Amino acid sequence: MASPQPLGYLRHFTSPGEPFDSMGISAPNLLAVSTENVCRHYQMGEALVRAVDGISIDIRAGEFVALLGASGSGKSSLLNLVAGLDRPTSGAVIVHGTDLAALSREQAAKYRLHTVGMVFQSFNLIPSMSLLENVELPMRFAEVDRRDRSTLARESLERVGLRGRLSHRPMELSGGEQQRASLARALINRPKLLLADEPTGNLDSRTGTEIMELLHSFNQSLGMTVLMVTHEQALAEKYAGRMLHLADGKLVDDVPTDHVSNISSEPVRAPWGETQ
Ligand code: ADP
Ligand code: MG
Repeated sequence: MASPQPLGYLRHFTSPGEPFDSMGISAPNLLAVSTENVCRHYQMGEALVRAVDGISIDIRAGEFVALLGASGSGKSSLLNLVAGLDRPTSGAVIVHGTDLAALSREQAAKYRLHTVGMVFQSFNLIPSMSLLENVELPMRFAEVDRRDRSTLARESLERVGLRGRLSHRPMELSGGEQQRASLARALINRPKLLLADEPTGNLDSRTGTEIMELLHSFNQSLGMTVLMVTHEQALAEKYAGRMLHLADGKLVDDVPTDHVSNISSEPVRAPWGETQ
């Protein structure tokens, strides 16, 4: 049997010989995400909830950043603003030079489809669809040709070790397998920015580590920017290049870890074998 090539399917990110730089995702000084005094306040009857309360951060393309903070500190709210799923009450979110507030509805939909990939704690796979259909779905919206869709979805699932699970429905899989499938789906339209909201929150620590290794390998070998929410300081320290700490909707700490995220010339091997 041919040895697995965990990141092989990502070859379609570039044409042969084309440097990743030409996609604008690995230039070291390019800003991937910039927020300028961004706020998201919710009016709940009489009470005003300051979920995000004046946060300014810059994330360079190719960084792996962990967003930490207690439950309710505003991590998901901030991530949703960067994802274009929600709009700020005030302030700006700029992703790869585009102010998200300036996008029309249609442009915002395109932004969510092409520029960002998202992974959630609860996987969010569609229960009635097979894994192959789930991973194909974003390409349907992106109007990728049917035959290409099937080939790319199949390849991406194979490369996250799910070759033997293509026609399974999410319920028939373990949590780790579901999260691997949701990663395959998040990456299928070649986003520049991967946003992950507690991606290991529902997984045991071994399975969580597998998912972290996968995120890490995408960051390292492709220079894909990763912004990940986590409760787990140890995971953040191990994998992220920088940790942002939130409290009560505010940025209270911005600490580099002692290792660098970012591009390496050596693709990183995923830690699991193929699922037969
Ligand atoms: P975290 O992800 O850090 O746990 P969230 O961003 O989900 O925190 O929530 C931050 C605060 O905003 C919490 O107090 C939460 O109750 C509140 N909040 C989040 N979403 C909404 C919403 N849609 N409507 C009202 N309040 C919300
Ligand atoms: Mg949250």
